[in-house]
Amino acid sequence: MKTNITTITDIKALKPVIKALKLEGKTIGFVPTMGYLHEGHISLIKRAREENDFVAVSIFVNPTQFGPNEDFEKYPRNFERDSAMCEEAGADLIFHPSPQEIYPQSYMTYVEVNEITEKLCGASRPGHFKGVTTIVNKLFNLVEPDRAYFGQKDAQQVAVIEKMVKDLNMNLQIIPCPIIREGDGLAMSSRNTYLSQSERAAALILSKSLFKAEEEIKSGSRSKAQLMDMIVSNIKSEPLAEIDYIEIVDAKTFRAIDTLEGDILIALAVRFGKTRLIDNLRLEV
Ligand code: AMP
Repeated sequence: MKTNITTITDIKALKPVIKALKLEGKTIGFVPTMGYLHEGHISLIKRAREENDFVAVSIFVNPTQFGPNEDFEKYPRNFERDSAMCEEAGADLIFHPSPQEIYPQSYMTYVEVNEITEKLCGASRPGHFKGVTTIVNKLFNLVEPDRAYFGQKDAQQVAVIEKMVKDLNMNLQIIPCPIIREGDGLAMSSRNTYLSQSERAAALILSKSLFKAEEEIKSGSRSKAQLMDMIVSNIKSEPLAEIDYIEIVDAKTFRAIDTLEGDILIALAVRFGKTRLIDNLRLEV
């Protein structure tokens, strides 16, 4: 469904648009992104389109969620292409602010979720989730969505945001959406564009290992240690892969588990050259 999309860069211009929608009783579906869109993002926009009167997408590479040695500067950006893709997917509005608009010089307020943010990506990327919860909070205040759509690709991010919304009694629904993969299994990511041809081929080891783990669990394997060994040795068999973390945790709390039962999440972060990729598999055992 193609729409006549509006782009707004100023908070001042956004407010009356949201106010008018609220007065008309329209529901707002919201998809926060950092741009350089792919089919993963588009799946969220399409879902939002199905479930809401109005669909807003934000495109903002959020500086506060990047560490000092991370890829903020070189993160891929292509607003023209993103805008056309949003329009094609049926979005009504793109909010595309500058970093100064969001974080003026006098800025000093942050939102932080504890415990669940201390492991996995939180441990490897100190301060990352504080940046995520702060920007998502600000965007929720600005866009006032009824529903916000997040990809399960960033499983810990979804859990952290769900916790923030619950703990702070925020008045919206978080809708987690499935991971969209390339035909060969690689989870779609804006960062895949960094990969060289050989790194791209090597990165397939992530989804292959997760799918193999799924098969083993489905055929009755219940030993966490054995499953971990299998995944680690599989990934280590790929010379270009450098493991950041591989963890099997409770999918809701992100606490370590001893046995493979209940709602579990196998989550991994692996570097290929300078590119850090994440992937995961959630299973009810
Ligand atoms: P990003 O632009 O990477 O910050 O992602 C914006 C949103 O798109 C987040 O909710 C991501 O989890 C989601 N997303 C990114 N990649 C995928 C994917 N392959 N499948 C589903 N959702 C995704």
